[in-house]
Amino acid sequence: MKALKERILRDGKCFEGGILKVDNFINHQMDPILMKSMAVEFVRRFASTKINKVLTIEASGIAPAIMVGYLLELPVVFAKKKKPSTMENMLTTTVYSFTKDRNYDVCVSGDYLCPGDKVLFIDDFLANGNAAKGIIDLVNKAGAELVGMGFLIEKSFQHGGEQLRSMGVHVESLAIIESLDDCKIVLKE
Ligand code: 5GP
Repeated sequence: MKALKERILRDGKCFEGGILKVDNFINHQMDPILMKSMAVEFVRRFASTKINKVLTIEASGIAPAIMVGYLLELPVVFAKKKKPSTMENMLTTTVYSFTKDRNYDVCVSGDYLCPGDKVLFIDDFLANGNAAKGIIDLVNKAGAELVGMGFLIEKSFQHGGEQLRSMGVHVESLAIIESLDDCKIVLKE
């Protein structure tokens, strides 16, 4: 998606270890106009997919997911990274965080992720695909069906996208970064 790619080149910053910082428009300050355009693009790319629920993971996935849910007029559920003591019918999985280098539990209530749901997952980044695989586990535990995964930014040099696609998941990424070597952002055409 042209507008996102241009913004990444303009405002994205590279950090050691293959991390891209997009705090200026996605992860800290947010650009709602760009966020809306990205959601419109997801709606276009998943137009032929039957969806009844949008799922994301807190915190950075919530903004794009709510925009997609708003456009599709569908409920949006976010998986939580801390287990609330009050959550009923809890489904959990463990995810390894590449940016924080540690495992964390992710949970969602089976009251909101239900058998038969056709789930579109939306998140900000796809790197090694650990968060995405955790989500697949939660969707399976709920007896729901994953119909697609949409990411604002995929870092193809970390191969999560390759793995998900080879598992047969319909993955759409709005910008694909091929390399961050030498702190230079190289985008896929
Ligand atoms: P994965 O589980 O695919 O390895 O990583 C996905 C998660 O890690 C995303 O939800 C995102 O929050 C975070 N992440 C991975 N790579 C980056 C990055 O380069 N920049 C930022 N800001 N977050 C990242």
